[in-house]
Amino acid sequence: MTTNCTLAQIAEALRSHRRFVVISHIRPDGDAVGCAVALALCLRELGKEAVVWNDDGPLEKLRFLPGSDLIQKPPAQPEDFDVAIAVDTSTQPRLGDSRTAVGNVKLWINLDHHISNTGFGDLVYIDSTAPASGQIVFELIQAAGFPLTPPIAENLWAAIATDTGSFQYSNTTARTFEIAAELIRVGVQVGKISERLFQTHPRRRLELLRAVLNAVRFTCEGRAASCALPLATVTAIGATPEDTEGLIDTLRGTEGVVIAAFLEELEGGKVRISTRSKDPRYDVCKICAQFGGGGHTQAAGARVTGGLAEVEARVLQAISDAIQQP
Ligand code: 5GP
Ligand code: MN
Repeated sequence: MTTNCTLAQIAEALRSHRRFVVISHIRPDGDAVGCAVALALCLRELGKEAVVWNDDGPLEKLRFLPGSDLIQKPPAQPEDFDVAIAVDTSTQPRLGDSRTAVGNVKLWINLDHHISNTGFGDLVYIDSTAPASGQIVFELIQAAGFPLTPPIAENLWAAIATDTGSFQYSNTTARTFEIAAELIRVGVQVGKISERLFQTHPRRRLELLRAVLNAVRFTCEGRAASCALPLATVTAIGATPEDTEGLIDTLRGTEGVVIAAFLEELEGGKVRISTRSKDPRYDVCKICAQFGGGGHTQAAGARVTGGLAEVEARVLQAISDAIQQP
């Protein structure tokens, strides 16, 4: 655990200030969105002013979450606050324009569970044993005795369920289930929220999956599975960034595969790399670090400047090296 403060100190900072902005990483997932909205709703319950910024604005698939209308794109002109809170974000560049839209603040708080977090900010609380940042936000709310309303509980459920892969990944602990039990007591309806989070997708996503399956490559004698998705395919399908999230799980699930990689060509000559490892001995965070990215041992990513084929060749080489000498 890399941390320079306690949850009690963060709670005190929240109590003693009035105007807050909560921000999280570009291309947010359920953990980033759920934490940011849960924190803002909690601060509002405490009588504070709280806004939520994210470069991508609200996600279509998470609009069902109560309070998701709080999420706005950052303004063009910087705004001042008492406190800025960055949540679920390992490095400042990952905050995108939301970071530069924060003007003068008295305090920066950094709450996260990424082992690769650079520790930016004044009050830093990084617990890399937490499966989701949502678990840390829950611990903060509970330790401080802050309000835990049904809307806050739903957002924390979305956060934790997303980053634990529906409570299936090895980072899921007894504590995670204790927290889940508490969220259910507060009002989360498991069937309803699971259907919205995991069983509902736009048709575009199925079209995208079709393209991904057509493009799958197996290398390293079937121990690596990868897919490179050209921008033209994404554009033809009309897919949005959020549609690609989780497609990599299908590659990873293949028997014999220990590392899966998903490469997506972005506008502006960039490629988004997404990687998963099925065995902690194969550290994909180290692989992505070679490309300027980071994340967790078994789930990591990076953004690289370069052509799709060229980046794919470099990534496959790095994977092959990792598999040969874990
Ligand atoms: P995903 O593959 O789902 O996009 O991301 C998996 C993990 O890698 C996430 O925890 C995310 O924070 C991290 N990650 C993804 N892309 C980047 C990146 O460009 N830079 C860094 N530092 N981490 C990333
Ligand atoms: Mn997370």
